[in-house]
Amino acid sequence: MFRASFRAKVPDVPMTNRPKAKDGVLKIAPYVPGRSQAGGVRTRAKLSSNESPLGASPKAVAALAELNDRLSAYPEGSSRDLRQALAKKHGLEADRIVIGSGSDELLHLIAQTYLGAGDEAVISQYGFLVYPIATMGTGAVPVFAPDRDYVVDVDAMLAAVTERTKVVFLANPNNPTGTFLTDAEVRRLHAGLPKNVLFVLDSAYAEYVTNPAYDAGADLVRENDNVVMVRTFSKIGLAALRIGWLYGPDHVVDAINRLRGPFNVNMAAQLAGVAALEDEDFIQKLQAHNRTWRDYLETHLPSNRVRVLPSQANFVLALFPETGPVTAATVNRALLHKGIIVREMGSYGLPSALRISIGSEEAMKEVVEIVRGVDND
Ligand SMILES: *Cc1c(COP(=O)(O)O)cnc(C)c1O
Repeated sequence: MFRASFRAKVPDVPMTNRPKAKDGVLKIAPYVPGRSQAGGVRTRAKLSSNESPLGASPKAVAALAELNDRLSAYPEGSSRDLRQALAKKHGLEADRIVIGSGSDELLHLIAQTYLGAGDEAVISQYGFLVYPIATMGTGAVPVFAPDRDYVVDVDAMLAAVTERTKVVFLANPNNPTGTFLTDAEVRRLHAGLPKNVLFVLDSAYAEYVTNPAYDAGADLVRENDNVVMVRTFSKIGLAALRIGWLYGPDHVVDAINRLRGPFNVNMAAQLAGVAALEDEDFIQKLQAHNRTWRDYLETHLPSNRVRVLPSQANFVLALFPETGPVTAATVNRALLHKGIIVREMGSYGLPSALRISIGSEEAMKEVVEIVRGVDND
């Protein structure tokens, strides 16, 4: 009764008189994650999110047993053990590392720390979608530099830099193209940037690179005041736990730590992360598997109609004709029909492409068989 009469007395509130999200936020196109279900068909292989096809490190799984009697206490706030383990493994200084709840959190923290209304961030044409999201959330504007045949174009990136540019984001290798820039090209890009621009080098796929001309960027960070390297555990078996890390100059680490939540990385992530770093054997297996089956896809998928970009990551990007029998849509339908989920690319402006994660031997052979089947129809 009370409710009814109370409600009846509330005047019509104009739509404009309510909390209003910042302009930049409402311009963000909602992130479309990789499909996780095939729609009516039992999922047999999920190749849409670049996850490990060999599960997680058994050592990381075992380490989670330690959680049992620690669940009631806050985790160590700076992820100290994990920072020290990373520092040891990669030859870095632990106090110049920040751990995040996934590298997504770190990318958002970087954007919040260095960008605001009136600023610009330069991003490559097919750069990782989290960059424009994080940028627009601050009120800043993402500026896209055209690729050259699906490879980041250093000259175009530099040409996109203006007085308003505060951050340049580069994923190397890039997701979703899988292509990469050599260390020399990355250094040429960095050398062309004003010193007040923060160069964010996202090396999420560094573990899978086999080309010797590549470098993940730790030296570039150490040699400069304006470079941050961002890495993740997500592509090497621990996506569920959300563990990312960055290595940067003291002043950047100091600024980001002021904004970072005091307990941003949970206990399970810290325990499993340390154990995973000690499991050299697992990471080597993952790398060997990836190399074999990435080569296999690059050899067996291409045809007169299907192009596969050369990949240095744990996925390949396949490009299909816009019309005719072998489009991305027809291939995707055939894969889904067999319970195989790959990543549609419309949200990246690549509607004629499919991104296919490196999966099990069985899944890779089946993908080739299905694509060849559609292609030969
Ligand atoms: C997958 C991916 C990440 C990782 O994100 P997490 O939040 O650590 O899972 C970061 N950058 C790129 C380019 C990626 O593809």
